[in-house]
Amino acid sequence: MPDLCSMYNVEAIRAEFPILQQTVHGRPLVYLDNAATTQKPRSVIQAIVNHYENNNSNVHRGNHTLSQRATDAFEATRGKLQRHLNAAFEHEIIYTTGTTGAINLVAHGFRSLLGPGDEVLVSQLEHHSNLVPWQMLAQHSGATLRYIPILPDGSLDLDEAQRLINPKTKLLAFNHISNALGTVNPVKQLTDWAHAVGACVLVDGAQGMAHRRVDVQALGVDFYTASAHKMYAPTGIGLLYGKTEWLEKLPPYQGGGEMIATVTMAHSTYAPLPFKFEAGTPSIEAVVGWGAAMDWVTALGMDALMAHESELMAYGTEQLTAIDGLVLFGTTADKAAVLSFGFAKVHPYD
Ligand code: PLP
Repeated sequence: MPDLCSMYNVEAIRAEFPILQQTVHGRPLVYLDNAATTQKPRSVIQAIVNHYENNNSNVHRGNHTLSQRATDAFEATRGKLQRHLNAAFEHEIIYTTGTTGAINLVAHGFRSLLGPGDEVLVSQLEHHSNLVPWQMLAQHSGATLRYIPILPDGSLDLDEAQRLINPKTKLLAFNHISNALGTVNPVKQLTDWAHAVGACVLVDGAQGMAHRRVDVQALGVDFYTASAHKMYAPTGIGLLYGKTEWLEKLPPYQGGGEMIATVTMAHSTYAPLPFKFEAGTPSIEAVVGWGAAMDWVTALGMDALMAHESELMAYGTEQLTAIDGLVLFGTTADKAAVLSFGFAKVHPYD
């Protein structure tokens, strides 16, 4: 990898993305859909190729050299993620299929913990992944789903949030950064309010981990989720961070290999964390690629990355607001680099 950290050299960084070396419609490719998924730098692609060419094997279930190498690489990524999020223990990082998989894991586990009279609170600013699993949980448990409303600038109505959080609230779920409006939500404040009534807090960090420094212990959240593909890593892999006491309390999500300690015809016992929640053969090459992506982000530096994004954001906002008839959605002061806009009477497809 070239020296990218000494200076934020956009051309050098761009050159590291093979996909950006093509032209589309006769022009150099410009890709702006990073909130949906990011492109992958060469080092991530090479890590996956290297895994398949040299180390491919299953993890945690072979004593041979290849299995040992694959397991070491697989677990090394977990360590990088733990350090990146400042989780207290490596076993608090559970590999999932992504943010959607992580939220479903928690929502499913809460079916046995909630009942009629309990309340689940989410915001109106959520991705479907952080909404539909809670609707399903409410249907299965009889708990009531409530919503924190949004103000016109795209921020959450915090007065209303404070009013809605009450002793019946058992779980509060909201995003760190909204994919639709870019709003950066006050995670610590909402978490403190929820904890004051004994509620559990899950933060959807699909955009948060990619665009901000995250310290799960400083924030105090009980669960934090992320999708690797939003931060230069492969699709099909993500994480659930959970405090040990909550991960111990939740039942396993799926049964199968890897998540068991003992199995008889009559009964099974479950493996310790994190494996209790990692049934079946995982997406090993994606985890290996994620490790390379974490190295990439570390080399760039989160601070340099955030500073560059905020520069682009200011420039983009200025350029767009100069266009007659254009309306920007999401205008909070603390906003990540997402620009949503519309024109009166013009459909986005046009
Ligand atoms: N939450 C937010 C805020 C997102 O932006 C996304 C993806 O766009 C998701 C959840 C779902 O992520 P995934 O499809 O990787 O599970």
